[in-house]
Amino acid sequence: MTSKGSLIVISGPAGSGKGTIVKLLLQDESYTVSISTTSRQPRSDDIPGVTYNFVSSEEFIDMISNGELAEFAEYVGNFYGTPISTITELISSGKNVILEIETQGALQIKSRFPEAILIWLSPPDYDTLDSRLRGRGTNTDEDINKRLTAARRELQLLPYYDYIVINEKGKAEEAAEKIRKIVEVNSMSTKQNSDFVREFYKL
Ligand code: 5GP
Repeated sequence: MTSKGSLIVISGPAGSGKGTIVKLLLQDESYTVSISTTSRQPRSDDIPGVTYNFVSSEEFIDMISNGELAEFAEYVGNFYGTPISTITELISSGKNVILEIETQGALQIKSRFPEAILIWLSPPDYDTLDSRLRGRGTNTDEDINKRLTAARRELQLLPYYDYIVINEKGKAEEAAEKIRKIVEVNSMSTKQNSDFVREFYKL
């Protein structure tokens, strides 16, 4: 039975610790991350081509019109999206591919790739979310408030997610380990092994 990588979508409110968890997962070389394209301005902690590919709004709209994106969304006034070519390339590497994206994009991925695992990463409580976001120091007050509002709106789509992982204070490694376990169990799901099932039973 040949194993192929899983498509893992990780979403969560700003301040849920997604960046830290993704970095921990990437220490294992069976994981890789998709680099998104965005029209937002780079922050001081961004590295173009590494954290994002930065484009203008006009360029982003062209990518939408040309059907280049597997999913996209507008979030707090900016566009974010995943090129189809990025996903196809990463999937063919056989690695577990992480998409760190917001909820609207996550649902588009689930309808295009039903085998994708949707994981919701949550801070332990609202105060932690608020203080993590403010402590980051790279967003303006207006941006922080918009992100807190977006977090409440995003929560409405939580029932569409397969799993929820709580990122407790100071326990990021534990949260990453929970995600590794989810991915391991998922590698045995019938959806993930549909090629094997089809071949074996000559369906
Ligand atoms: P930030 O501006 O903090 O880097 O990202 C804002 C939000 O956009 C986060 O929730 C992040 O997960 C989401 N995001 C980043 N890249 C993508 C993408 O390619 N598609 C979608 N739909 N959301 C994304």
